[in-house]
Amino acid sequence: MTTVALNKISVTETGHPEKRKMVIAVDGPAASGKGTLAKMMADRLGYAYLDTGALYRAVALATLELGGNPEKYADVAPALAMVKRNLTPELLANPELRSHDVSEAASKVSALPEVRSALIDYQRGFAGNLPESVGGAVLDGRDIGTVICPDADLKFFVTAAPEERARRRYEELKTRYLDLTLEKVMSDIQQRDQRDSTRKVAPTRAANDAYILDTTDLNRTEALQQAVEVIHASLLSRSGATGPGY
Ligand code: C5P
Repeated sequence: MTTVALNKISVTETGHPEKRKMVIAVDGPAASGKGTLAKMMADRLGYAYLDTGALYRAVALATLELGGNPEKYADVAPALAMVKRNLTPELLANPELRSHDVSEAASKVSALPEVRSALIDYQRGFAGNLPESVGGAVLDGRDIGTVICPDADLKFFVTAAPEERARRRYEELKTRYLDLTLEKVMSDIQQRDQRDSTRKVAPTRAANDAYILDTTDLNRTEALQQAVEVIHASLLSRSGATGPGY
């Protein structure tokens, strides 16, 4: 059964829509499918894409490499400075960022207010200074619709049942970590959810004007199809047109 719940259809209009490039915020908890969906949306629309989790992961990896404690800002600060000096697409594509230890550490460094504020300009700069060649941007993370781009044209909050998220993450990791169990992944996901949604600064939360997209029973193509329908409806409402548009 399809359990997609599309909350409301409304578009935040600011500035000059005909000149301004479209910004789409995609937030949601770990392994909800938001990253895959955001990337597919960007490809489909020809938009630029930023995985903001990779920023926190890069700071986490550098902290671990320096032998620091990801919960202590004094240890994280030198790693943060290094990452800020060297923020390139290559750095953010490092496969090491996807390891289990880095996921845990990323959730810890991202709870430090100093780390969050140091990364705001980069994320806003990405959304606000797009090259001529692209029509817009898709950013995925936890606080894109609430903190980074509160004026985003469209906001999605992608979610899925915790058991399904654990199953997906387990499938992704099991060949790499042979002693990993589904129970361990489930408990790690619950801990990360708890940490990410209860931290003082920018907790994971759906913006009031976000579409809630539950991917529990959807494959990636079905999730993209749902998202495209929402994007289509917003583009039509922005342009005031009434028929199929793009
Ligand atoms: O999205 P991903 O799982 O790669 O994010 C890694 C960690 O970075 C998350 O657990 C979360 O704590 C943090 N994060 C965040 N804000 C974002 C993106 C990610 O706090 N915008």
